[in-house]
Amino acid sequence: MASVFGHSLAALALGKAFSKELRKPKLWILGILCSIAPDADVLGFKFGIAYKSFWGHRGFTHSFFFAILFGFLIAYLFYKSRRNIIALYFILCTASHSILDAMTTGGKGVAFLSPFENSRYFLPWRPIKVSPMSASKFFSEWGLEVIKSELLWIGVPFIILLAGIKLIKYITR
Ligand SMILES: [Zn+2]
Repeated sequence: MASVFGHSLAALALGKAFSKELRKPKLWILGILCSIAPDADVLGFKFGIAYKSFWGHRGFTHSFFFAILFGFLIAYLFYKSRRNIIALYFILCTASHSILDAMTTGGKGVAFLSPFENSRYFLPWRPIKVSPMSASKFFSEWGLEVIKSELLWIGVPFIILLAGIKLIKYITR
């Protein structure tokens, strides 16, 4: 994974693109939940599920299919109106997780196309340092390196994206 912080950062940045009335703390919190939910699969390690298998880490829960299911599930569970647009946000948050994982320097690839095709993929460009799995390792030199690379490779592109959206809104107003 990229770190929890990196994934949350993506969720917050994506939320900025949505209209003001939708931007309530509930939306942020659920968005962050979606952005880290795919890593629930690390529990599989405890039960001896192999990394490479369907339920293994970066397997089915990291697929686009899962992102769509999960996004709709959360939107329909927690909202009564405008569910489809909200679901879209949650889908983007969930899928952003897999895309960021596929840009990290370590681990195995991401099963984007599961359950239809279970190959693991990386993006051709992988600038984000992989995050350690344990908290004790995270609060170390390694963790600092991870945060630095995430601020640079997740934070900066999103700032540019948001600035672009603002500019377009300003021009077309
Ligand atoms: Zn992950």
